[in-house]
This record gives sequence, C-alpha cells and structure tokens, in this order.
Amino acid sequence: ELTESCLSQIEQADALGAFVHKTPEIALEQAKAADARGHDGADLNGIPLGIKDLFCTKGVPTQAASGILDGFKPEYESTVTNQLFNAGAVMLGKLNMDEFAMGSSNETSVYGNAVNPWRRSGDEAYLTPGGSSGGSAAAVAADLCLGATGTDTGGSIRQPAAFTGITGIKPTYGRVSRWGIVAFASSLDQAGPMTKDVRDAAILLGAMSGHDPKDSTSADLPVPDFEAMLTGDIRGKTIGIPKEYRMEGTPEAIEKLWEDGTAMLKDAGAKIVDISLPHTKYALPAYYVIAPAEASSNLARYDGVRFGHRAKLDAGDGITEMYEKTRAEGFGDEVKRRVMVGTYVLSAGFYDAYYNRARKVRALIKRDFEAVFADGIDAILTPATPSAAFGLGEMIDADPIQMYLNDVFTVTVNLAGLPGISVPTGVDKDGLPLGLQLIGRPWEEGDLLNTAYALE
Ligand code: GLN
Repeated sequence: ELTESCLSQIEQADALGAFVHKTPEIALEQAKAADARGHDGADLNGIPLGIKDLFCTKGVPTQAASGILDGFKPEYESTVTNQLFNAGAVMLGKLNMDEFAMGSSNETSVYGNAVNPWRRSGDEAYLTPGGSSGGSAAAVAADLCLGATGTDTGGSIRQPAAFTGITGIKPTYGRVSRWGIVAFASSLDQAGPMTKDVRDAAILLGAMSGHDPKDSTSADLPVPDFEAMLTGDIRGKTIGIPKEYRMEGTPEAIEKLWEDGTAMLKDAGAKIVDISLPHTKYALPAYYVIAPAEASSNLARYDGVRFGHRAKLDAGDGITEMYEKTRAEGFGDEVKRRVMVGTYVLSAGFYDAYYNRARKVRALIKRDFEAVFADGIDAILTPATPSAAFGLGEMIDADPIQMYLNDVFTVTVNLAGLPGISVPTGVDKDGLPLGLQLIGRPWEEGDLLNTAYALE
C-alpha cells in the first residue's frame, strides 16, 4: 500500500520532473516480497526509495542525466543500491540530477530541470530544487518517496536538501562504497541519504555504509548503530563557529538562522567557541581545479565504444571522428566546460601552476580542520548555502562562476573528506526553507547526526 501510494503520488507530480525513469513493476515486486517477509527485522523492509540516476541499477536505465549514456543499462548493481535492496527497500525509479552531477541547480540534466515543490509566497515563479541531487530533493520534499539516495562531490546532497527543507548527510570519505556509482571526481565523491528528518537519515546511512572490497578507498571500519545514537543529548559538546564563513553579501535571514542555530545548541548544553579555518577562501578555486581535473580523466571512458551513445558516422570517418562526434553530441555544455578546464590544468605546461597548487591548498584546508578538532571542537556550525532556492534560469544563464559560488560553504568538507549534514532549521522572508550545516570529525557520523537531531 505504501508503494502503491508513492507510485500514484509520482504519477500526479510529473510536472516536478523529479523521476526520469519510473520502475513500478520492480517496485511492486519488491513490495510484495517485503509483505511476504513481514517484519523480519530488515531495517528498510518495504520502504519505497528513489535512486539518483548516478547509481548503476542492474537492467534499469542509468544515464547520469547525460545524453552520452543514452540507452545504457548496467549489467550490475551498485554496492549502495544492492545493500538498500538487501535491507528490504523498494525502488520507485531513477531520479533527475545535473549531468554527471556537475551543477547546483539540476538544470544541466539532459532530461531538463527538476522543480522545487516550494515557491516564494505570493509568487508563482518556479524555483530550482538545487543540484546536483535536485530530483532526489524534490521527490523527498514532495512526498513522492520516503527517502532517496544522493551523491555529494562539492555539496550536491547538502545544498539541494537546504533548498527543499529536507535533511541530507554526506558521510566521511570512504564510509560508503563508490562501486557502481558513475564517477565524477573520485577523490571527492561520496554517496549519502536524503530524507525527511535526521532519524531517517541515520537509518538509511546505516544501510548504505560499510566496507566494500570492490572500492579501494572504502574504509574497513565497523558501522555503528547511528539511530541508537540519537539521544538529543549534546551536553558538554563543543561547537565551533568559523569566522571565515561570515561572508559579505550573506542575506540577513541566513545570518539570523545561523545565530538562532547557535543559540539552540547552546541552550541544549553545548559550549560555543569561535574558531578560525584560515584557508577557507581558497577552497572554491581549489575545488574547481581538482574536480574538473578528475572529471576530465573519468569521462575519457565515454568514447562511443563502451557505453551508450555513438554518433552516426560519415563515409571515411575514422576512430578520431567517432570520438569527436560522439563526445560533441553526447555531452552538454557544462560537462564540456569541465573537461576543457580539467585537461588544461593537467596539461604538461600548467600542471604545477594549477593542479599541484590546488592539491597543496587542499592539504592546508584539511590541516585547518585537523587543528580545530585537535583543539577539542566536536562539530562546526555554518550555513549550508549562501541563499535560499533561486529561480530557474536565474544562474544558469549568467556567468558559470555565479553558479559555482553556491558551493562556498560546502566544498571544504569534500576537500577534507569530512562528514557534513544539512538540516532544515528555518525559512526566509518569502517562506522558503533554509538549512544549517554541521561538519563533524572523520568517522563520527553518529555524533554528527545526534547534534543535528538536537537542532531539528
Ligand atoms: N555544484 C558542485 C559542482 O558542480 C558540486 C556538485 C556535486 O557535489 N556533485 O561541481
């Protein structure tokens, strides 16, 4: 019944553009199996989820919202989706996203944008659900599913969660297996859950996590019972407020949200400390060198031979023409921009000036966090985004740098490999949801979720 109800909601909400491929037959089959099993203790038995189109799902179209993967049906299941289904979850379908997870608005998708279910009060204009996990965020916010998978390379779980009033956690790098997830920037990519609240996030993260020998960067560490750690007791915890995150031009509503969140944690018994993360201002430029560099290398595999789309060739065309025509047709503008930036910063003449320098900056950013954690800080509180959800077309039609600036509060977490969570804690003057971000110590997602629980 739960699955049927979600499937009917999805049918009615087609205009949101959240689902790009629906799998009702699979869903009903999985739901029937869940019914037959009854409550056998499987954590997610019969829980209907949406799956971001970046996760390979066996026999089910997986395109990373790109034209170049047109017609691709993986022969294998990603570790994350496999674990979710083994825990009893039901797959409703594949969710919209920015092409190859490159973007902050879901507008680079080959399927067209997803729409934020929220609007400004008294204003009919459609807003972005954020990106790249925009379909996941829209689907959860509009009650089309009980939770969704997302991925976060520079903010793609946390920013859309903040824009749609839901919860999203990016775990520590290595907590969740990347096997079977279409790669964007492998040293930054992590999957995580997007849910209605912190408890659901704890449950889903538990089911997604764990060591996987098929991902060499997956950590061989036990997965704690995250849900059991949600006591709401944060007495004696020390929360850092980083001064570098006070940025010029931050809207008043976000400043206030941050102050209110700080006061809430203090009232709950936490100690609040001003801290400094001095290299924060270099994070965005470093990210936009490292992420495209890795992307240009990862995307070299889309050659028209192994996966998806191949261009129609003219008589006399050779292999070079096949590569060129296939990639010219298959990739969208933002992806091409990243490949060009990436190959440039990795080229012999510029490697030291850009890529190597960005790697050094990354090490400094990581060290900033290590220093505050060594000083006894348990978690860091910041805004999740520099604004509420913006209008469709508003940024994508402007200079790409404007779009990149959206990631100012989130990319440091990926560069340092830390866990970060976005929790909805307020609204702006137009009634749009806003989120706060908590950043935790590596491998301490349980503590982080508990602090977020106190903020919820
Ligand atoms: N907006 C960032 C980018 O475009 C982050 C995307 C992500 O986390 N996948 O690279």
